[in-house]
Amino acid sequence: MKIAEHIQRLGTETAFAVSGEAAAFAAQGNHVYPFHLGDVNLSTPMTVQEGAIKAMREGKTGYCPNAGIPQLREVLAADISASHGVNYEMANVSIQPGGKPVIGKFLHAVLNPGDGVLYPNPGFPIYESQIEFQGGVALPYGYQETESGFVIDIAGIERQLTPSTRILILNDLQNPIGAEAGPDEFEKLAELVREHDLYVLVDEAYFDVRYSGKSRSFVSIPGMQERSVILYTFSKKFAMTGWRLGAAIGPEDVIAVITRQNVNLESCPNHFIQYGAIDGLTGDQSEVHQILATLQERRNVAVDALNSIEGITCARPETTFYLFPNVTGAMRNKGLTDYEGFRRAVLKATGVSFCTRLHFGRPLPGETQCYVRFAYSGIDAEQIEEGIGKMKAFLDS
Ligand code: PLP
Repeated sequence: MKIAEHIQRLGTETAFAVSGEAAAFAAQGNHVYPFHLGDVNLSTPMTVQEGAIKAMREGKTGYCPNAGIPQLREVLAADISASHGVNYEMANVSIQPGGKPVIGKFLHAVLNPGDGVLYPNPGFPIYESQIEFQGGVALPYGYQETESGFVIDIAGIERQLTPSTRILILNDLQNPIGAEAGPDEFEKLAELVREHDLYVLVDEAYFDVRYSGKSRSFVSIPGMQERSVILYTFSKKFAMTGWRLGAAIGPEDVIAVITRQNVNLESCPNHFIQYGAIDGLTGDQSEVHQILATLQERRNVAVDALNSIEGITCARPETTFYLFPNVTGAMRNKGLTDYEGFRRAVLKATGVSFCTRLHFGRPLPGETQCYVRFAYSGIDAEQIEEGIGKMKAFLDS
């Protein structure tokens, strides 16, 4: 078949290709340490599982309303209102088959061809893919490394603001960097949003994945709630990546348009799992706390092990399950100058599989430091220690 021309603009998530490469390497009899994918190898809380099974047995197996079942929309609106310090009602919530569909559906709802969309780079690759696929102009903004982590390059955003810039994609608690914006960054961004009349996609996939402190939402800044749609997902907090359940939360008019896209694309989200999600949100939270405790232990093991390697420095983020170590020195020590060469050399020599900066957008002009991403959500602490130990032996030799 002759494929339509616009499909050339549709990108992909190359982390899945790294996953395939690691699987092929394992199939040859090698041991693989999987740090490449933000999947979670912990089981979904029993409260969620039992709620979904019960609903299935009770016959909640037909179509449900296009925006999701009203009970879940209400519970989620109340949950987000409480945690974000703002007010949302059921009409502000459209349940989705995962968080990811919110990106494309939000852009479909508000983007006109030629509109500029600011998005984080390094960042979740689907932003760039969807912006370009839908005829927008992708305007990447980067992050700067500081002593304590990473900050948004606000000057880089300001430089790209023109009258045709209409949308800002913000992923605080960031994949792949693990960065978290401080109050000053949020205030400055909100000022730009107001001044330039922007709409905002607030990707909060990791809002509840944190080990200390409290997440603060961009929508809690006065004037931002009306301009923003939140990407919510059950995937990470509840270890539910394969269940495919998330939501778009925002102003009623745009949410109605997103729900109209549900009608056209999937009719409705999976019916019975929404009952499990209600139990997950309202029931006993001890299993959720256990997931976080396990992830925190893994983070500590991984950060310490990475920092023990000559030529690698790694911050210790309080959120997400990603690390974004600077590996410039280690690459230099090995005489390797390109990312793919480094990634493949480490995989081949040690079985440690990770993504690099290249999997999170086209590098920006002037980048001099090299970074890779370690996801520790799909690998146990013991394996983390063993794998990074092997990597240390290889890189230090
Ligand atoms: N947004 C970010 C930043 C992510 O990292 C992910 C998944 O890795 C998603 C959205 C989408 O997740 P899901 O579709 O599983 O909800």
